[in-house]
This record gives sequence, structure tokens and C-alpha cells, in this order.
Amino acid sequence: MAKILVVGGAGYIGSQMVKQLLKANYEVVVFDNLSTGYRDAVMGGEFVLGDLANRESLKQLFEQYSFDGVMHFASFIQVGESVLKPSKYYRNNLSNTLNLLDEMVEHNVKKLIFSSTAAIFGEPQYIPLDEKHPKKPINPYGLSKWMVEQILQDYDSAYNFKSVCLRYFNAAGADPEGEIGERHLPETHLIPLILQAASGRREKITIYGEDYETPDGTCIRDYIHVVDLCNAHLLALEQLLEEKPSAVYNLGNGEGFSVRQVIDTAKKITNQNIKIDMGQRREGDPARLVADSSHAKIALQWQPRYADLEKIVADAWQWEQKMLLKTL
Ligand code: UDP
Repeated sequence: MAKILVVGGAGYIGSQMVKQLLKANYEVVVFDNLSTGYRDAVMGGEFVLGDLANRESLKQLFEQYSFDGVMHFASFIQVGESVLKPSKYYRNNLSNTLNLLDEMVEHNVKKLIFSSTAAIFGEPQYIPLDEKHPKKPINPYGLSKWMVEQILQDYDSAYNFKSVCLRYFNAAGADPEGEIGERHLPETHLIPLILQAASGRREKITIYGEDYETPDGTCIRDYIHVVDLCNAHLLALEQLLEEKPSAVYNLGNGEGFSVRQVIDTAKKITNQNIKIDMGQRREGDPARLVADSSHAKIALQWQPRYADLEKIVADAWQWEQKMLLKTL
């Protein structure tokens, strides 16, 4: 079976990916510096503690193993932080990624699944967003990802380096079997924050603005279950392994939910009262982000299994209750 390197395999999405790769009988090696990930989230395969900034340790990794493909999840993801600390984002998301790409080229491993983001589009010019939508990122996080996407096009032309860029909308939910889930410190994502307010680990949830041009005034996002997201990675990997050309796909459910709708769903699922605070708009938040994922559905034969927001919230709630028990 193919041997896959999962960079950032101890994080929220990377660890779910490792679980699914193992289930599909791939051999897995995780490379992670544990800066934001957890060793106990890696459910199997081999684990190598290492940093993409360290070219020497990357060289050793590629000399030790013969990989058939690489999946790259190791990036910083907070939009607000990227505005305040652009250097941190360009160093890791761009420069460290270049280290990985060059080591791959040097060792003739030329198949990469790259975690990209809807943040490359910036303010939407139309909804839903398809792959061709203009790319005008409005923060260093989005720009760092868009730069890598463009670099990958050049690497394909020059080195015959094949990649699939997967542009995530709002990754959410947790492992339905309850083994792994979101553990960001600090947590900034809507669904885990709401559920922490429901479990009592947090006092309240602050809604970032209710004066957007949406039916209830709060922002609309496209939440996609982390299992469905990883499933798309598996399909994309199969295509690369079958020598198919490079590609890019937008990954979402194609349905938008407002912040208020997510809170109402969480109230229903948890049966808890959730204290709400009305806050200011968060800088850089477009009113609406919804994916057109028809390209992935057709080309990858991908079909989200857990498209229902209630299922996404229910799985995240199961995980939050586990996290709550850990803190008691
Ligand atoms: N949001 C909010 N309160 C929070 C965190 C997020 O109202 O404490 C809103 C945010 O403005 C956005 C949506 O929830 O409209 C999803 O935000 P998240 O940070 O989860 O993901 P993003 O869309 O930034 O990738």
C-alpha cells in the first residue's frame, strides 16, 4: 500500500485524516512539531517530531522513508493573528512550505495534497464561490495560502510536480466515534466556542456583529464536517496516485448558516441555555461565504455524508463533553 507523509498530522484536521488513511490501509508517517497539535490525537502510523523550518530534519525524513505522496496540514490558521503577526504566517505557511516542496522535489516525491482556504477569495463578488472566483485575499493568512497555490502551478510546469489544492470553507464537527476533535488554544472557531458556552467551560458566546446584510443580520458560513473534508482528501489522493493532473477544489456543503442559526441548532442539540453577548464586527469577516463544490462532486465523485448542520453540531458536542470531563 502507498506510504503517505502527513505533515501536521497531530492537528484537528490532520489527525482525522490520519485516522481515515489508516482505515483505508495506507501506511502513514506523521511529521509534526506539536506546536498546536497533540501526540495523543495521532491514532496510528509512525510519528516523527520535527519542524518544517529545519531543512536538515526534513532531509533526514525523506532519506529515511520513501513516500508515495504528501499531505500538508501544518499551518497557522487565525485570520486576526495573521494581520497582527504577518511574519509568523509568511515564515510558516509560505517559507516552511517551500522547504517541504523543495525537499520533495529533491527526493522525487512529486505528489502533494495542500490545505488551502476560502480566505484566498477575499470579499465575495458572487455567491456561491466556485474555483474561478477572483482571488483577492484581504489578510496575510489568505495571501500566504494563495501564494503557495500559485507556486504549486510553477512547480508543476518546471518540475512536473502534481498537487491538489483543497480550499476549505468552515471545517467543523468532530470524529463521530468520539476519539478526536477540535482542541485549539485559544479556541476561535464558532461551533466549539458555542458548545463551550453550553457545557459551562465558557461563560457566553459573543456574536461578532448583527448588522450584516443577511436575513438575521449575522454572518453566514458554509460548515463542512471534518470527516467529509478528509474524505475529499482521500479521493484527491487516489487521483494523484493514478497519475491524474494537478487540480483545485472548493470544499463546502453549498449551504450557508448564520451565526444565530448555528446557536439555535446548538441549543436544540445540547438542550442547554446558551448565554449570548452582542459584540462588534470582527475585522475581515465577509457577510456570506458559501461554496460551490460541484467541481469536487463531479471530478472526485465526492459526496458529503454529514451535510446536516445538526449532525456536525452533535458530533462536536460529543467531543466537547469529553473535553469537559477531562477538565473536571
Ligand atoms: N463568530 C462569532 N463569534 C465567535 C467566533 C466566530 O460570531 O466567537 C462568527 C464569525 O464572525 C464568522 C463565523 O462565526 O462569521 C465563523 O467564524 P469562525 O472563526 O468559526 O470561522 P471563519 O469563518 O473565520 O473561518
